[in-house]
Amino acid sequence: VAAAPSALEPTPAGSSRALEVLSRVFGYDSFRGEQAQIIDHVVDGGDAVVLMPTGGGKSLCYQIPAMLREGTGIVISPLIALMADQVAALEANGIRAAFLNSSLEPHEAQAVEQQLLAGELDLLYMAPERLVLHRTAQLLQRARIALFAIDEAHCVAQWGHDFRPDYLGLSVLAETFPSVPRIALTATATRETHSEITENLRLDHARHFVSSFDRPNIQYRIDPKAAARDQLLRLIRTEHPGEAGIVYCLSRRGVEQTASWLVDHGVAALPYHAGLDSAVRHEHQERFLREDGLVIVATIAFGMGIDKPDVRFVAHLDLPKSIEGYYQETGRAGRDGQPSTAWMAYGLGDVVNQRRFIDQSEGGEQFKRNARSHLDAMLALCETVSCRRVQLLRYFGQESEACGNCDICLTPPTTWDATVPAQKLLSALIRLDRERDQQFGSGQVIDVLRGKDNERSSQSRHHELSVWGIGEDLSEREWRTVLRQLIARRIVEAVGEYGVLVPGEDAGPVLRSEVTVELAVDRAPAKAPRSSRG
Ligand code: ADP
Ligand code: ZN
Repeated sequence: VAAAPSALEPTPAGSSRALEVLSRVFGYDSFRGEQAQIIDHVVDGGDAVVLMPTGGGKSLCYQIPAMLREGTGIVISPLIALMADQVAALEANGIRAAFLNSSLEPHEAQAVEQQLLAGELDLLYMAPERLVLHRTAQLLQRARIALFAIDEAHCVAQWGHDFRPDYLGLSVLAETFPSVPRIALTATATRETHSEITENLRLDHARHFVSSFDRPNIQYRIDPKAAARDQLLRLIRTEHPGEAGIVYCLSRRGVEQTASWLVDHGVAALPYHAGLDSAVRHEHQERFLREDGLVIVATIAFGMGIDKPDVRFVAHLDLPKSIEGYYQETGRAGRDGQPSTAWMAYGLGDVVNQRRFIDQSEGGEQFKRNARSHLDAMLALCETVSCRRVQLLRYFGQESEACGNCDICLTPPTTWDATVPAQKLLSALIRLDRERDQQFGSGQVIDVLRGKDNERSSQSRHHELSVWGIGEDLSEREWRTVLRQLIARRIVEAVGEYGVLVPGEDAGPVLRSEVTVELAVDRAPAKAPRSSRG
């Protein structure tokens, strides 16, 4: 699919009625990107699939048609926690909006149903599980419906990272309401997700609006992980002092510890994760939105539907599970178009842990295969030696030129021929296994390669092995860098609970010298200068 101009560019077009609503109700004077075309298409009764990056302005694409068409626009969203806020914001603009979800008392829900039937609502939000209830279907049959907007539509894709089974039930809308236009919207745009949305929601006749996914004001940087918190603090102090940012950690414990560590070091930081009391969570989210210069430390539970324009940096202290997740999370930076940083610290432990999570997960084989291929794509982005933006956009099906504003473009990494070290490492794994019937994690294997005595080595007489000390020429740190890249490329595999190392599926050609192994030298985790590209 050819990508349209960036979703954030203003465009003059738009029917006069739509423009009138845009300025009178929302107070804006022009549409952005393809908003005008999308709105006109839906107002005319057409179905639409809208792929637009976070912050691109998807909401107006269904809100304005809902106001221009007769009847109520039904908005299906998984974000129950945000519905009350969204509705309050619409009401503040004078729009007649309401929501139906499990947080309402029966009499409140009834009042909303009455409003719907009386034609007193422009917009009605509900969760998919509500919509598929027989009772709701009956209610909607009796009401006048302007359109169905299916927000976060990637939740219908089984291939994706955010699948919600209830979304599959939305396919009935095509049959039950054949004359009501449907618009599906998402910020996730891989080919697979796109076609699953189209198929699973039966949007056979829809027009497809695919915006450019480039966010040129975001500088993408991925540093080797040394002491991640110190690296983060340096980033905040040197580049973003007193500015708003989001720090993502994998675990709740990581969130708690990082937040209090930052506070101890003079950074105004607040924790956010699903384990916190909901009142506390709400308060932290509110403060982050309203106050200036707060840093929120969060699990990925935070951020969906959050609209704060001046987030200056998004930092990942742990490796995201997929490029979709990474792109969505980093996309929360710089919605105002000002220069912003997407920074991540990534190390050997991340690869080993994430692979282990997948292996030990409860999911079936298909789930694991998907999870592995998502992770591999993410690792490829981390280990790339060419422009990160090119890689990222290519993942979303968009070709581009080197950006000049990512860490790789700004400081191209040096590469070296690591074929011999890779062979030494593989030989060590094979010798340990064959001659001692032993498998070890990275620490012990590196000690054997470097000929570094320890208790286990003396006990097992490792110094008698032919591979003892053959890797003395590299430091321990260098070996960890080599190992990380070899694992990312599946030349070595870390398996089981302890991450013991075994030759990976691509080890053969390396051992037989049929391929050379070109690896990057880790750059010192330094500050990347900001380029003038905006
Ligand atoms: P998305 O759902 O795609 O992430 P939103 O619909 O929340 O994005 O819009 C992001 C921000 O951009 C909001 O603050 C919204 O009010 C603003 N916005 C949307 N369209 C326009 C426009 N045409 N002109 C100015 N601001 C806009
Ligand atoms: Zn680049």
